[in-house]
Amino acid sequence: MADCIFCRIAAGDIPATIVGRTEDAVAFRDLNPQAPVHILVIPTRHITTMFDADTDLAEVAVGQCIRLAVQVAKREGLEPGGYRLVINTAKDGGQSVFHVHVHLLGGRAMAWPPG
Ligand code: 5GP
Ligand code: ZN
Repeated sequence: MADCIFCRIAAGDIPATIVGRTEDAVAFRDLNPQAPVHILVIPTRHITTMFDADTDLAEVAVGQCIRLAVQVAKREGLEPGGYRLVINTAKDGGQSVFHVHVHLLGGRAMAWPPG
C-alpha cells in the first residue's frame, strides 16, 4: 500500500535500521523504543490488522514474523533472560500503525498486567 509507512519501510523507500529479513518478513528497530531492545517485525506484504490474519497467506506471513522475531531475539542476546512479543490489534489493542507488526521487547523485566 503506497500510503502505508511500514510497506514503505519494507520496500526500502523510508529508512529504518533493518536487523533481519526473510522472504516474507522484515525486522527493524522501533523509532521510539520502550525497552533496551525494541524491534518491530512485519510481514512484507500489507496486512492491516490481526483481524485480517485468518487466511492461509497471512498464516505463513505472521508465522515467518514470529520465527524471525525469535531469531533476532537470540542475536540480540535475549536468551536465556527472555523477552516479550506483542501484537497490538485495532483501537482497544492500542494499534497506531495499521500494518500488522510484532513488537519484540527485551533487555529489562516486563511488567504484568500490561497497561
Ligand atoms: P503500535 O502502537 O501500532 O502497536 O506500534 C507502532 C510502533 O511503530 C510504535 O512503537 C512506533 O514507535 C513505531 N513507529 C511508528 N512510525 C515509525 C517509523 O517511521 N519507523 C520506525 N522504525 N518505527 C515507527
Ligand atoms: Zn503496509
